[in-house]
Amino acid sequence: MDFDYDVIIIGAGPVGGYTARLLCERGLSVLMVEEHNEVGRPFQCAGLVTPSAMDAVEAYDTVVADVDGALIHGPSGTLVPVGREGELRTYVVCRKRFDQTVVQQGLEAGSDILLESQPVSADVQEDGVEIQIINQRTNETTTLRSKLLIGCDGAHSWVRRRFKMGYPKEMLVGFQTEVVGYEGKERWLEMYSGSEIAPGFFAWIIPSGNGTHRIGLWSKADLLDGRTVLDCYNDFLQHPLWKDKFENITETARYCGPVPSGMIRRPFKDRVLVIGDAAGMAKPTTGGGLGPGFKQISSVVDRLVKQINLDQLSEKHLKYVTKTSWPKMKKEQDRARALRDLLVSTRSDEELDAHFANFAKPEVISLINEIGDIEKPVPLGLALLKNVPAFRKLALKAGVKLLFT
Ligand SMILES: Cc1cc2nc3c(=O)[nH]c(=O)nc-3n(C[C@H](O)[C@H](O)[C@H](O)COP(=O)(O)OP(=O)(O)OC[C@H]3O[C@@H](n4cnc5c(N)ncnc54)[C@H](O)[C@@H]3O)c2cc1C
Repeated sequence: MDFDYDVIIIGAGPVGGYTARLLCERGLSVLMVEEHNEVGRPFQCAGLVTPSAMDAVEAYDTVVADVDGALIHGPSGTLVPVGREGELRTYVVCRKRFDQTVVQQGLEAGSDILLESQPVSADVQEDGVEIQIINQRTNETTTLRSKLLIGCDGAHSWVRRRFKMGYPKEMLVGFQTEVVGYEGKERWLEMYSGSEIAPGFFAWIIPSGNGTHRIGLWSKADLLDGRTVLDCYNDFLQHPLWKDKFENITETARYCGPVPSGMIRRPFKDRVLVIGDAAGMAKPTTGGGLGPGFKQISSVVDRLVKQINLDQLSEKHLKYVTKTSWPKMKKEQDRARALRDLLVSTRSDEELDAHFANFAKPEVISLINEIGDIEKPVPLGLALLKNVPAFRKLALKAGVKLLFT
């Protein structure tokens, strides 16, 4: 079979752009197919990028603020400050520029791109994948052939649905506004918990440069009890403990979007892979999906390129390519979710308040600052269960949960 490209990637978001770059840098020919006429729009993101995710793409000129820590509030207002002044924990980026930078890197490495285009069919044959792509503006259809098809097409991935690859374990939903007029502490983000504000999860206020802030929250449909995330947002702004903070804000933009978390069981089939949100990579503890998406591809890229060059890309071969890292990533995600549920998501406000009273003790804050790593929440969860006497009764439950996840 003649191939138009070694790899066709559906979706030119950050994970698609990064994947294209890694593959092109290793000598492959790549096409990205993007349904919008512009990269980076629309977006739904708080814009937090961890240092390790930033190292992968070095998009430092898209940073709008640095964050040293989080001021975390319990349902009744107990404050737990996590982080240290002057020690950067995470970057805040302009997500549109971030996506454009990452996709540009893919193009500079040699990838082609089709904008305003999407797949209408994809058929896997023994000797390649045949993909029909329609240009939405001209209505013209083109048929292209590649050795491998990669879906980097986000939470509702067409590729994942076309090849019946299953669903992420959880589909959470996030809502966010951008505001001016909020007075926060410089270089610190804020987090708020409680069933009225963000059932089972948390709300955030993130400094985003030039006097702007992002105010948002995420939760899960089955915890919302008929409410919407917009209802929760409005309740947050009207909350008796916090409403004074919002007196002078003016909203300038709003976004709402899904957060797929829980890697699908088989993110590969014959000649097909899905990566990033398409595979359910967002972290169950923070909703961050950029770092995990980048790691999902970078951890397998060398083996993958070898298989592409050999044109050995059956499901069995792709299982071999991914087996050293993806099952481990999935397991880590499952363990983090189990601990999140145990300590936060299944707790009543009264129980959460009791947890916050313990979190707020100086020795516990020191422990959190010492072991806490946004990238690896499981060791912190385990250390809390082991070292904080009040949490010990949860330790047995945690042990059992972790044993079976
Ligand atoms: C409210 C909210 C806040 C968030 N905050 C953060 C955060 O602070 N930090 C963080 O790391 N993550 C955050 N996330 C998650 C983060 O936005 C995603 O994990 C990340 O965008 C995943 O990147 P991706 O490239 O896999 O998918 P996407 O960014 O969704 O990109 C997919 C691309 O594919 C294109 N596409 C889709 N379908 C097709 C099709 N059929 N044909 C052609 N093109 C298609 C889309 O147009 C898009 O360009 C947040 C999510 C939400 C909802």
